Amino acid sequence: MTITSNLKNAVIYLRTWIKLIIILLAGLAIIGFIVFVVYKPMYSVSLNGKFIGYTEDKIKLQKKINNYLTSGDSKTVAFVEVDNYPEFDLCLLKKGLVANDDEIFKTVVGSGVPYYKYYSILDKGEEKYYVSSFEEAENIVQTLKDKKSQNQNDITYVPKYETTLKEFTDKDTVVSKLYIEMPLVKNTNVSTKKVISNSSSSLGISLIRPVSGAISSRFGSRSRGLHTGLDIATSKGTPIKAASAGTVVRARYTGSYGYMVVIAHTENVQTFYAHCSKIYVTEGQNVAQGDIIAAVGSTGNSTGPHLHLEIRVNGEARDPQYYLYNNTN
Ligand SMILES: [Zn+2]
Repeated sequence: MTITSNLKNAVIYLRTWIKLIIILLAGLAIIGFIVFVVYKPMYSVSLNGKFIGYTEDKIKLQKKINNYLTSGDSKTVAFVEVDNYPEFDLCLLKKGLVANDDEIFKTVVGSGVPYYKYYSILDKGEEKYYVSSFEEAENIVQTLKDKKSQNQNDITYVPKYETTLKEFTDKDTVVSKLYIEMPLVKNTNVSTKKVISNSSSSLGISLIRPVSGAISSRFGSRSRGLHTGLDIATSKGTPIKAASAGTVVRARYTGSYGYMVVIAHTENVQTFYAHCSKIYVTEGQNVAQGDIIAAVGSTGNSTGPHLHLEIRVNGEARDPQYYLYNNTN
């Protein structure tokens, strides 16, 4: 054995190995190429262990599903409660297999319980109608205020999250069903029976005179339509006192009454102070007997500064002179 022959053998040995490696690599490349041409990586999607479809873009589909589950459709569906999320398994699949992201989406969101968001229109706290959007609900309440509906302060709305969808009523229908014309001082539709009450039953509360002055129009007079209150003429700015303790249920401009304060004294008895020039109280405020609540004025349907005082029992106007101003001015 010589050094030369040893070297020769080593070279042959090495060449053989290099050839083998090249063949192996070429083989792998061919297999890889075939795989690349025939197959593609996709995600097999399953829900609760059941196969529901394939997707190529796992991130995009997951995002779409999660968005819907947490935020709904930005219309009626608020969110969807699901027991399980879908599982995604990466696999190589034959090309030509179509991804069905839409079906997967529908299956997943369809497996949950949708919570609908809508608005309930309440009359004195009782659910009356349902509308789909906040804008509609707000619009209904505002329209009734603009139209000076008698029940404008009773109509409210609340958002609802429910698993069952209610039948919606369109805005105009709700407004027309809820609207109640405000009984005006001039309104002769108010029946005489209702207005002229001969009941002298006690109100169950003590009353003091809100202002002093000359009586300019009596209850039941027909000088400017049927009169539901008592007019006491006095100068503009004269402080008006609360006739009795109670809660202010209205303190705002109210059509022909002008700036008006209404105080609820008991569940049944209310006093109205109309045509004020200024209001010093706010709705919801509690007042004591004798508190200054407003100033005399001539706002609304009025020809000169005076206090139009009404006493109502269960909404029925009573003659204030049964209780006050019955002797002198
Ligand atoms: Zn009057």
